[in-house]
Amino acid sequence: MMQSYFFDTKIELLKGVGPQRGNLLNTELQIFTFGDLIQYYPFRYEDRTQFHHIVELYEGMEYAQIKGRLRNVDKVGEGFKQRLTGIFTDGTGSLELTWFQGITWLEKNLRVGAEYVLFGKPAFFQGRPQMQHPELELLTGLNEKGGYFLPVYGLTDKLRKRYIDSKAIATMQRNLLQNAYPLIRETLPEFLLKKYRLIAKKDALYNIHLPLSEQWLHQAKRRLKFEELFYNQLRLIKQKLLRRVDYEGQIFKKSYLLKDFYENHLPFSLTGAQKRVIKEIFEDMRSGKQMNRLLQGDVGSGKTIVAFICMLLAIDNGAQACIMAPTEILADQHYQGLKVFADALGISIEKLTGSTRKKARTGIHEGLLDGSLKILVGTHALLEDIVQFQNLGLCVIDEQHRFGVAQRAKLWEKNKYIHPHILVMTATPIPRTLAMTLYGDLDVSVIDELPKGRKPIKTVHRYDAHRLTVFGFIRDEIKKGRQVYIVYPLIEESERMDYKDLMDGYESIVRAFPEYNISIVHGKMKSADKDFEMQRFVKAETQIMVATTVIEVGVNVPNASVMIIESAEKFGLAQLHQLRGRVGRGAEQSYCILMTDVKLSKDSRIRIDTMVRTTDGFEIADVDLQLRGPGDISGTQQSGIVDLLIADLAKDGEILKVARECAQAILDEDHDLELPQHAMIKEQIDSQRTEHSSWSRIS
Ligand code: ADP
Ligand code: MG
Repeated sequence: MMQSYFFDTKIELLKGVGPQRGNLLNTELQIFTFGDLIQYYPFRYEDRTQFHHIVELYEGMEYAQIKGRLRNVDKVGEGFKQRLTGIFTDGTGSLELTWFQGITWLEKNLRVGAEYVLFGKPAFFQGRPQMQHPELELLTGLNEKGGYFLPVYGLTDKLRKRYIDSKAIATMQRNLLQNAYPLIRETLPEFLLKKYRLIAKKDALYNIHLPLSEQWLHQAKRRLKFEELFYNQLRLIKQKLLRRVDYEGQIFKKSYLLKDFYENHLPFSLTGAQKRVIKEIFEDMRSGKQMNRLLQGDVGSGKTIVAFICMLLAIDNGAQACIMAPTEILADQHYQGLKVFADALGISIEKLTGSTRKKARTGIHEGLLDGSLKILVGTHALLEDIVQFQNLGLCVIDEQHRFGVAQRAKLWEKNKYIHPHILVMTATPIPRTLAMTLYGDLDVSVIDELPKGRKPIKTVHRYDAHRLTVFGFIRDEIKKGRQVYIVYPLIEESERMDYKDLMDGYESIVRAFPEYNISIVHGKMKSADKDFEMQRFVKAETQIMVATTVIEVGVNVPNASVMIIESAEKFGLAQLHQLRGRVGRGAEQSYCILMTDVKLSKDSRIRIDTMVRTTDGFEIADVDLQLRGPGDISGTQQSGIVDLLIADLAKDGEILKVARECAQAILDEDHDLELPQHAMIKEQIDSQRTEHSSWSRIS
């Protein structure tokens, strides 16, 4: 970003760093050069412009800065309970101070009776204000007016132990900026700076680390975020343009099978949204260009039938199709569901998973190669090199968030002559801001309408103490002929863990409902056993399904209308939403009951309240994004596309929108960035280019 060699200088050569600290910065923060340091942005700021009085302190205050005098420092307690206490006064009141660590050093250095600037988070005990481990700085001409925003940097324990704290990093930044400031090149063209009223790059970098005022800080953030998102979007949009030119796609025109399917076998009429996305997908499949499309649709919106209809188009034209699901249960469900249609239409279909026997496997491989097998449904077993097609025309990836990016690339290579069309389906409603950035190079179709006749799921929150009432409710529903899921939080199925909760739960359910048949499914079971139990539930031979989150994705049992989630506070929002999506698939009124302990953390409460308030997947995804930050939303981290230093997709949606429109407008006018006024942009893009192998295109 900054071409000058100055910014490639090793960090240890910076004044006040040296080999030891330099080494720590390398290993702990991946800061190797001056350029790395200057781009190591604070993640928040403490407002040290204001001073507070002790009388003004209140419970819940984030931090306070107080000018006052230190009195009576005492050592109390013995051994590991030993602590140092002090009294701090400012004429409006007194504050009790406590330290548990560094006592010897503090005793030696604190000056009783001296004036200090104190900073920390106030707490209250029996109405008296207190503070633990406050920062104390002797009052000097420099700090007595207050007046700066202290940047807070991400640090590690190891750094803190070696006294590299936010203040130390800020000092390094100050030392660096003294020399760097005049060397910082502008990286946005003048006309954009003018149009969006952005401050110069050098001022932005200065103020992001050493803000001169709140105003400057605000402008610095705005400028850097805009730049980051602008180039990010420009790159993605450009990739999309490139792809359009680069990759040829099979042209699927004929549609005899489709006609037969629509006229004779389609079990319901499609929703408007389904029709619309099918049209969008068909346009791609007929365009002569390879399709890379993301199909978003909330749980239960009917993505499977859309996928099948698209598969028919490929088969109609002599190609083959496959659909890949993240779990065996789901692959099996797709297989069972699609086989009914395929059989009716006289199309061959097989299932391939990890547990497919050798003999069947060989048959499948042959059928794929000679073209007699048209549809393959499976899990990641599809990815194995031995699975080769005669002519794979369409590849559907269901619930894509479960797959790694590299795995998807393999599918892309399954047709050596002409890449298959790719349709990625996800029920994880990705907030629009995130989708734009993550999938900026994919076309997106959205099913934003549920099939008619669905009643919204009623969601309630119940404490564990009300379990008996909940059991009564379950009984009533089963009497009406419904089925019930009860889910336990064993999140990491792969890890060895205690199944006690699940088993205890299962046993108490068996005891409470002796008159009913109860299934249990969890990740430690053999997949054949899992399937067997699932099938019993699907066939309504069992009324209650006790399960872990293995049932989270995709399972479709329309008669199941009650979802009980135990220890709901332990689940993430996306997971709760997915689980709830298992019910509400039939015409009956469905219910979701979130069971929790009485004690809930703030975030847990927000999650539970959100679930009770809304069934809108997008709204839920937005709250999720606010709570967790975008890096955590499944799969985004590994995608390598979102690599933002300063912009926050959860909060900067507005800037993103503007940046994207701006990038789009520039590329519309000047595809290859050849106009003189775009020279700087082109240079930036070229210098930023990272090795994106072909798979990034479909991630
Ligand atoms: P998801 O989008 O979550 O994968 P599915 O494809 O599993 O949803 O569909 C959920 C249920 O809705 C299935 O039972 C399916 O048969 C049914 N369905 C899909 N489309 C329609 C429609 N247009 N009208 C009525 N039911 C539909
Ligand atoms: Mg599905």
